Amino acid sequence: MRIAVYPGSFDPITNGHLDIINRSSKIFDKVIVSILQNGNKIPIFTMEERIRLIKKAVNNITNVEVDYFSGLLVNYIKQKKAKVIIKGLRAISDFEYEFQMALMNHKLDSDIETLFMMTNANYSYLSSTMVKEVARLNGPLSDLLPKEIIDDVKDKFSELRRKNNGDS
Ligand code: ADP
Repeated sequence: MRIAVYPGSFDPITNGHLDIINRSSKIFDKVIVSILQNGNKIPIFTMEERIRLIKKAVNNITNVEVDYFSGLLVNYIKQKKAKVIIKGLRAISDFEYEFQMALMNHKLDSDIETLFMMTNANYSYLSSTMVKEVARLNGPLSDLLPKEIIDDVKDKFSELRRKNNGDS
């Protein structure tokens, strides 16, 4: 069984992520979308919320599993009996960091390969950070997020706005 792990923060999952998941699900028997716990970025969505949003978005893809991990990615990959890390590349700016990470992971475990998928041109500008900025400013989210999760994301930002207004 060919198993691949697609790691990230998914705060929240975007159409760019979903495109990579869709394409890799056709190449591998199983794709595990795995949320990094305790990353550098402070998330807006809790781990439970991010898991729920990904599950909603991938509901129609049968060979995708949603999970989370902390610690070294290579250890997690081995534990999941996977051999491949999937990464999406949007722009040259992604390249240098991803290149270093891929080499480091390969050094830590030479059985593990990183597979880079080029972004879909329609989504090359899309990052969770940009989407959160649009959502925060109440902009349109329909081309940016899987349709199944748009209302959840809007609700989250309304709730945050309410909290912020209450605080001030
Ligand atoms: P972001 O950078 O949007 O906060 P993540 O840290 O969750 O996203 O990224 C997880 C993975 O998905 C990374 O490999 C990242 O390069 C990839 N990715 C994110 N957005 C896109 C996109 N629009 N197209 C292709 N790959 C993407």
